[in-house]
Amino acid sequence: METSQQTQQSAVLAAWNKRPLIISGPCSAETEDQVLATAQRLTKTGKVDMLRAGIWKPRTKPGMFEGIGAKGLPWLQQAKKITGLPTTVEVATGKQVEDALTFDVDVLWVGARTTVNPFSVQEVADALRGVNVPVLIKNPINPDLELWQGAVERISRAGIKQVGLIHRGFSAYGNTEFRNAPMWHLAIEMKRRMPELPIINDPSHICGRRDILQTTAQKAIDLEFDGLMIESHIDPDNAWSDAKQQITPEVLAEILDNIIWRKEDVPSPTFHAALDKLREQINHIDDELMQLIGQRMNIAEKIGEYKKNNNVTILQTSRWNEILEKATNKGSKLGLSAEFVQKYMDAVHMESINRQNKIMND
Ligand code: PEP
Ligand code: MN
Repeated sequence: METSQQTQQSAVLAAWNKRPLIISGPCSAETEDQVLATAQRLTKTGKVDMLRAGIWKPRTKPGMFEGIGAKGLPWLQQAKKITGLPTTVEVATGKQVEDALTFDVDVLWVGARTTVNPFSVQEVADALRGVNVPVLIKNPINPDLELWQGAVERISRAGIKQVGLIHRGFSAYGNTEFRNAPMWHLAIEMKRRMPELPIINDPSHICGRRDILQTTAQKAIDLEFDGLMIESHIDPDNAWSDAKQQITPEVLAEILDNIIWRKEDVPSPTFHAALDKLREQINHIDDELMQLIGQRMNIAEKIGEYKKNNNVTILQTSRWNEILEKATNKGSKLGLSAEFVQKYMDAVHMESINRQNKIMND
């Protein structure tokens, strides 16, 4: 006979392995009624696999709501009992891990402000030794993939088998469209480095506002994320934390309904034949581009030699401005964004400068 603990573990594993995995719930647990009502309304949508709620809230400044604390854990236990939803909570210290596990929290997550601190991550990892619980690790607030990967390694080395990633964007100075810059390429790079780990997107903390949640969630799904964590609240405007980005369970259901769920692949042979042909063309063009860039660098080296023999500096600002302007104009006629042209030309220019620098100083 299966014990109730085993039944619960297989329910958690089923949720963990579901695609897309949808996690929702309030930024913070505030009152028992709020937690229970949110969980019940989320269950009613039939679209949510796991209930989240912050119990301990690491806040940027003191005096803000720092979470209800361990007192909120029985509310989550009760919410699970009523709805059957597995629960997930953020942990930042060994004590918090112990408390969360005492109250049967099913999945733990490491927050962005904790991932940056190897001492804290190690403390959480040490508290997890010998425990069988899945752990999600948010990206650090700064765009440092080594830290993110380091946190994964610490938790894995503690013996945790189910480890996943949450992409919640990166801090940026000043006002931007997003509360946290998504820097999608960094999440994609983590997927490349650790393809065996599921990666969930957290549009709530990326956007920091409601009106762009839909497009951000869609982008994540288009980039093949394994799921979404979106904050929801029964009365978003009056939430005790992150009020601007929270939505009701019903609005969450609408957002999920509006997402176009794309597949990684389809079995159609005509689709594959067409795709193969186009990919072949792309491969040819990439090959030619590399050849051309190689040739460009060889010419840059020759220029370097002339400059060296005539004692001329590597960088001539006026010449660089001229090249950049030409490239931007040409690029815009071809439908290339100014941002892309700038990034591309900067990269080419840096490589050129490095090659010339070597020649000048050899
Ligand atoms: C949260 O999920 O409520 C939270 C605090 O997120 P983050 O660690 O991404 O800031
Ligand atoms: Mn939040």
